[in-house]
Amino acid sequence: MSPTANGRLIVFAGPSGSGKTTVARAILERHPDMVFSVSATTRSPRPGEEEGKNYFFLSKDEFQSRLANDEFIEWQRVYDDLYGSLKKAVEVHLNCGTSVVFDIDVRGALTIKGKYGPRAILIFVRPPSFETLKSRLRERDTEGPEELRKRLERAAMELEKAGEFDYIISNDILTEAIAQADAVVSAVVANASAPPVSR
Ligand code: 5GP
Repeated sequence: MSPTANGRLIVFAGPSGSGKTTVARAILERHPDMVFSVSATTRSPRPGEEEGKNYFFLSKDEFQSRLANDEFIEWQRVYDDLYGSLKKAVEVHLNCGTSVVFDIDVRGALTIKGKYGPRAILIFVRPPSFETLKSRLRERDTEGPEELRKRLERAAMELEKAGEFDYIISNDILTEAIAQADAVVSAVVANASAPPVSR
C-alpha cells in the first residue's frame, strides 16, 4: 500500500496499576491485523521478558545515540529509566496501512497526538479511584515503599492529564474495560465515529 495508507496509532496510557497493559494486549489478541509498538528502554529485563518482544533493551549510551540520530517518535524518562517508541518500527507498518498499538506513558501519548493528529487515537485507562490504584499497587507487591511512592506521585500527575485524551475507560471490571476499548478501536478502524465512553 502507499505511504498515505490509513494505519492508525492506537495509544493506551494511564497510571501504573490501571491495567492498561492488559487492556492493550487484549486488543491485540482481538485484532490480529494490528501490531504492537515494541519500545526501547534502558531498564533491565524483568523475569520472562524477551528482547524484541516486550522491549528492545538498550544501554544508556545506545539509547542516547539513537536519540541523537532522531530515531524516536517520542521518548520520556519514566522513574529512573528512558523509554521511547522507535520511528522505524512504527512507520513501516503505518505506511502499509497496518494500525499500531502503543502501551506508553501519558506524556509520550500526548507527544504522539501532537505529531500525528487525528491518525492517533488516545485511550486513557484509569482506575475507578485513586484508593483502588493504591491498593492494587500494594497488592501487586512488586515495588518497595520508595518505588510505590514514586508510582503514586506519577499517577496523580497522569490522572490530571486524562481530559486531554480522546477516550477515557474506567477499569473497574477488566472484561468491561476490554469490551469498551474494543468498541472504540473497532469503530476507529472501521472509520466510523467511536461510541461515547463514560468519563
Ligand atoms: P515498565 O518499566 O513498567 O514496563 O514501564 C514503565 C512506564 O513506561 C509505563 O507507564 C509504560 O507504559 C511506559 N513506557 C513503556 N514504553 C514507553 C515508550 O516507548 N514511551 C513512553 N513515553 N513510555 C513508555
